[in-house]
Amino acid sequence: MTQHTDHNLQLFERAKQVIPGGVNSPVRAFRAVGGTPRFITRAQGAYIWDANGQRYTDYIGSWGPMILGHGHPAVVEAVQKAVLEGFSYGAPTEREVELAEAILKLMPSMDMVRLVSSGTEAAMSTIRLARGATGRSKLIKFEGCYHGHADALLVKAGSGLATFGNPTSAGVPPEVVQHTLVLEYNNIAQLEAAFAEQGADIACLMMEPICGNMNFVRASIPFVKRCRELCTQYGALLVFDEVMTGFRVALGGAQSVYAQAIPGFEPDMTVMGKVIGGGMPLAAFGAKRAVMEHLAPLGTVYQAGTLSGNPVATACGLATLHAISQPGFYDDLSRKTRALISGLCQAAAAEGVPFCGDSEGGMMGFYLLDTLPQNYGQVMQSSNERFNQLFHSLLDRGVYIAPALYEAGFVSAAHTDDDIAATVAAAREVFKILSK
Ligand SMILES: *Cc1c(COP(=O)(O)O)cnc(C)c1O
Repeated sequence: MTQHTDHNLQLFERAKQVIPGGVNSPVRAFRAVGGTPRFITRAQGAYIWDANGQRYTDYIGSWGPMILGHGHPAVVEAVQKAVLEGFSYGAPTEREVELAEAILKLMPSMDMVRLVSSGTEAAMSTIRLARGATGRSKLIKFEGCYHGHADALLVKAGSGLATFGNPTSAGVPPEVVQHTLVLEYNNIAQLEAAFAEQGADIACLMMEPICGNMNFVRASIPFVKRCRELCTQYGALLVFDEVMTGFRVALGGAQSVYAQAIPGFEPDMTVMGKVIGGGMPLAAFGAKRAVMEHLAPLGTVYQAGTLSGNPVATACGLATLHAISQPGFYDDLSRKTRALISGLCQAAAAEGVPFCGDSEGGMMGFYLLDTLPQNYGQVMQSSNERFNQLFHSLLDRGVYIAPALYEAGFVSAAHTDDDIAATVAAAREVFKILSK
């Protein structure tokens, strides 16, 4: 690393000339925290290296997919082998069938899946399918949950309950979101009122069961139970968006976690992404046979994709699913993630800094707050300024966490107990600064 040239800054300046904001997905731009995004040159295990040759312990993991850490040997081998057989055929392959079978075995709430290329595409297609299968137009989503950037989902709450949402992005006509009802997460009374008023018109309720897009917020068990009951009562489809939680919080996803507390619990539809591609562009959605048979070419709901079920991506996904299915994988991952959160809590407490956190499997969140928030409004009571200080002070110490306080974090199987201890030690220094 040279002392004089900041290669990240140079690349960022160059990138800004040719790519809007210098990035291909907004949160990468460090807008929320300020400063220069790190341009990554390589990654191995729990670490990434930037253009200056600086190493970081990576708690983003490509926003979730890298559950095995970077460059897992079995995954690399599977991808190398697949590449030699061709990149894409636009025709079916055995590997797609194998991946579909592997997913269905792990998540028995579904009978069939369709493979696509991104979580956005999977969520968007799920809504079309839910509408086609029910013959209804309306959908419920919750404030703070993210389901990709399809038009109908870029919505914030309207002025009152039972009014439909307002677009959160320019370019989304109000007519396009007029069927989307936005409710507060974990608010049972509001949910009941919405169903009482609109229930007969609701095609689906889409939720992140453990939300990772307003930092880390769990849906309470009574809330999930009520979502299930009301969907059943009114004939709406309950959609679990497990793009982040699927194969991340447990081998069977968040639905397996809630099924432990709510006997017999199942969502009607599931959206998947991130971990199932192991870092390659791959996502999926699935449901019971009766719902999935509405999809083309069997049914009248159209959905398609040139690169869907891509042979290299499916090889990567299959090798990843194989590795995470080994006995004890989630016990070990959960133990390390919990050790990190409890280490951070203790370090903050020792310096008198308000702090709390939570985790499930390899997914985690923490806050510069005394108690865990239950919804988006409470998450946003966190101080941006203090989070930014935490973020940059950790980055300076070689710890790479998400550059925004409303993002969850991820631990991989490649993180060692020593990595966790080193991160806690770095955080202790940072909490000293924050306590002043
Ligand atoms: C990441 C994410 C998406 C969108 O997936 P992309 O692959 O980025 O399009 C959808 N839903 C949830 C819950 C996510 O975390």
